[in-house]
Amino acid sequence: MNKNLRKAILAGNWKMNKNRAEAAELINELKQSEIIKNADCEVIICVPFTNLETALELTQGTNIKVGAQNCHFEKSGAFTGEISADMLTEMGVEYVIIGHSERRQYFGETDLTVNKRTLAALNAGIKVILCVGETLEQRDDGITEEIVAMQTKIALKGVTEEQLKDVIIAYEPVWAIGTGRTATSQQAAEVCGFIRSTVKSLYTKQAADGVTIQYGGSMKPANADELLSREDIDGGLIGGASLKAADFEALVRSASK
Ligand code: PEP
Repeated sequence: MNKNLRKAILAGNWKMNKNRAEAAELINELKQSEIIKNADCEVIICVPFTNLETALELTQGTNIKVGAQNCHFEKSGAFTGEISADMLTEMGVEYVIIGHSERRQYFGETDLTVNKRTLAALNAGIKVILCVGETLEQRDDGITEEIVAMQTKIALKGVTEEQLKDVIIAYEPVWAIGTGRTATSQQAAEVCGFIRSTVKSLYTKQAADGVTIQYGGSMKPANADELLSREDIDGGLIGGASLKAADFEALVRSASK
């Protein structure tokens, strides 16, 4: 099975949570976990910009990697409130989430800006966690595949097959994010498999077999084993459950199986 060839990747998306002291407390708890220390999956925490320095400092010498939650596509300039990919690279940040549905929903993110941010991050040497996913209305209208294909194709425009090795795709049905409503493992696996076939149509079978595709949307210890056992689901992007050490540790254990 190709799944065995891909490294599972578990990433926490802290969103706009945790002040500096709370961030340090959670990271120190994660660092002490034997399960995390011995994880057989990649472990990433994507923290608010204000916690990047703390996170980078506290995770030094551990297997916990640090990511940001967005970056701008220009290198510098009059973009008040924005952070460039180069600024993240300079700090030592290794990953960035691009195109999260909350950015699409509340901050005017479009497929075109997702593409620009993806290219900017990759060109700055940062690995991208690229989020795609349909709304409930789109699912009910039967256009999930069209939406996800369009988001994936536009986001990856201009990304070379070599650069694709630094892209993780996160399938996040919008209706499952922060709602407690999880996609069934069947629904999640179907769309993750469809995303892989879309990647194959854009690149090669080898590229598609190698790309890590995460599921995200109310993943928690109670449903993780089933979701992560699916062939095309290679890990998770975790919101709420990444804010508690015990839950995140349990998810790392599931992703390590
Ligand atoms: C997310 O923010 O990417 C996410 C999946 O959130 P939650 O796990 O809380 O649904």
